[in-house]
Amino acid sequence: MSRCPECGGKMKYIPNTKAMVCQSCGLSLSRFELDNYWKKIRSENFTEADESQQRKNRRKEWLEWYSKSKSEKEGF
Ligand SMILES: [Zn+2]
Repeated sequence: MSRCPECGGKMKYIPNTKAMVCQSCGLSLSRFELDNYWKKIRSENFTEADESQQRKNRRKEWLEWYSKSKSEKEGF
């Protein structure tokens, strides 16, 4: 069962128009368009996950820098 990329509703295939139509919001896409839509969403989600990982790494680097500079200060 395909899911609507907009609202998560059920998509129903309409043979007459060769389109997938959302039962909840009425979004109409061809199977090809629906495929691309999901690919786009997945790549965006991937980018978001990537960014949060980068943010964590940045925070880790900052903490390392902070503890390093602290021990350097204590050395004086
Ligand atoms: Zn929908």
